[in-house]
Amino acid sequence: MKIVICASEVVPFAKTGGLADVCGALPPALEKLGHEVVVITPRYKTSNIKAPEPIVRIGENVRVCFVEHHHYFGREGLYGEAGGEYHDNLERFTHFCHESFQILKQIKFSPDIIHCHDWHAALIPVLLKTNYHDDPFFKNARSMLTIHNLAYQGVFPKRQYDKLGVDGHVFHTQGLEFYDQVNILKGGIIFADVITTVSPQYSKEIQTHELGCALDGVLRNRALDVYGILNGLDYDVWNPKDDSFLDFPFGSSDVNEHKRQNKLVVQAALDLPLKEKIPVFGFVGRLCEQKGLDIIMEIIDGIVEREAQVIFTGVGDKKYHRMIEEAAHRHPRHVGKFLTFDERIAHKIYAASDFFLMPSVYEPCGLGQMIALRYGAIPIVHKTGGLADTIHLYDPIHKTGNGFVFTEYTKEAFMEAVEEALKVYRHKDQMEDLLDQALRYRFSWEKSAKEYDRIYQKCIL
Ligand code: ADP
Repeated sequence: MKIVICASEVVPFAKTGGLADVCGALPPALEKLGHEVVVITPRYKTSNIKAPEPIVRIGENVRVCFVEHHHYFGREGLYGEAGGEYHDNLERFTHFCHESFQILKQIKFSPDIIHCHDWHAALIPVLLKTNYHDDPFFKNARSMLTIHNLAYQGVFPKRQYDKLGVDGHVFHTQGLEFYDQVNILKGGIIFADVITTVSPQYSKEIQTHELGCALDGVLRNRALDVYGILNGLDYDVWNPKDDSFLDFPFGSSDVNEHKRQNKLVVQAALDLPLKEKIPVFGFVGRLCEQKGLDIIMEIIDGIVEREAQVIFTGVGDKKYHRMIEEAAHRHPRHVGKFLTFDERIAHKIYAASDFFLMPSVYEPCGLGQMIALRYGAIPIVHKTGGLADTIHLYDPIHKTGNGFVFTEYTKEAFMEAVEEALKVYRHKDQMEDLLDQALRYRFSWEKSAKEYDRIYQKCIL
C-alpha cells in the first residue's frame, strides 16, 4: 500500500511530546510490513535536519517531505513561544494541510491511505472529501485521523473560517461548527474514513461525557469507526544497558546493584542525603494538571513521613513549579527537583527511581510508564486510558502484574497504592520478582503497526 503520514512533529526532526515519537517510529515499522511510506511534516527553524533538500530518504521505502514556509515555520517554537500560542496557528497549519496535497502531486505519489495526526493535520480529511473529491489523483485515497490528545482541538473564532480554503460550506453542526467557533479536529472526526486513538481504553473514554472534551457526541456518532491502538516504545532508544546518559548502565542481572549506584548519583546532584536503601519515587513529565501534580502534592508529606524520597523532572505551569519548590523547601532531605526539560536528566531519574509516579487525571496512552518499566522503576498509576491498558496490579502470591494501580481518584486511594508499593519494597524477594517482570515487559511497535495495517486494509475495501 502507499501510505502518507501527516504530522506536525516527527522524531528525529522535531519533538515536543509523544506525538513525535509515534510519527517517527510508525513509518519504519510500516515499511517492514511491505508498505511504501511518505511522511509530510513542516520544516521548522529548530528542526534537526542537516540536508537542505525538501525530501529526505530515511529508509528504502520511507521518504520525509518537508513543508517549507519561512514566515510560518521559521520561528523559535513549533506552536508558540513563552507559554503562549502563535496567533496565526490556523493559517500555519491550514497551509500545511493544503501543501500536503500539492507535495503528493509533485512527487507523483497517489496514496491509498492518508494518515493524519491531531488537529494540525485534521483539515486534510475535510479537503479530501471537498476540494479533492473529484480529483482522479486522489481517487483511491482514504483517510485516517489519529487523536493523540482530545484536549487539543484547534478551536478558532468563526471569522477565521474563510481562511481554511474549503470548497463548499462545511461551517455547520455536521461540520466544523462548534459552539459558534471553528473546530478543526471536529471536522477531521466527521470527515475521516476512520478514527483511531492511542490506546483501547482511551478510545472508549473519549466517547463519554466525562472525558469527551465536548466532542463525545460527535465521536459516539462515529462509534463504529473509532479504534484504539496502543503506542509502542522504541526499545533501541530506551535501553538501560546501552545508555550513554547513565553513570551505571544496567541489564537485568545487575539492576539491583546499579540502581543503587544511579540513585547515589542523583541524590548527590540534588543535595539529598546519600542513602542507597531509601525508596525513591520519581516523576518525569509535563507539569500540568493532566499529569496529576495536584494529587501528588496532596500526599507528598505522607510519602516523606514514610522515609522515602521524591524526585521531580519537568517544566510547565508556574503553579506546579512553585508547589514543587515549596515541597522541596519543606523537606530538604526528602524532595529533590530538576525543573528543566533535559533528556539526559530524564534518563538518570528513570534509572535512579524505585517507583514512578504517574497519577494522570486522564492519559491517552503515556510513554512515561513504559519507559519506567524498562528502567526498573515500578509505575504507580491511576487506572485511566493507556495507563489502565499497560499497568496491572502486582500480585505477590501469583506473581502477576507489573505495578500499582488506584481506581478512585482520591488521595486516600493513591496513598494506599503507595503503601502497597512500600510493602513490596520491604520484601526483598517480591521486589526482585517484580523488577524482573518489569524489565521483561515489551510494548512493541511491530504489534502496533500490524494493527494500523489491519485497519488501513479495512478502510480501503
Ligand atoms: P505526553 O506526550 O503527554 O507529554 P508521554 O508520557 O506520552 O506524555 O511522553 C512524555 C515523553 O517526554 C517521555 O519520553 C518523557 O521521558 C519525556 N519528557 C517529559 N518531560 C521531560 C523533561 N522534563 N525532560 C526530558 N524529557 C521529558
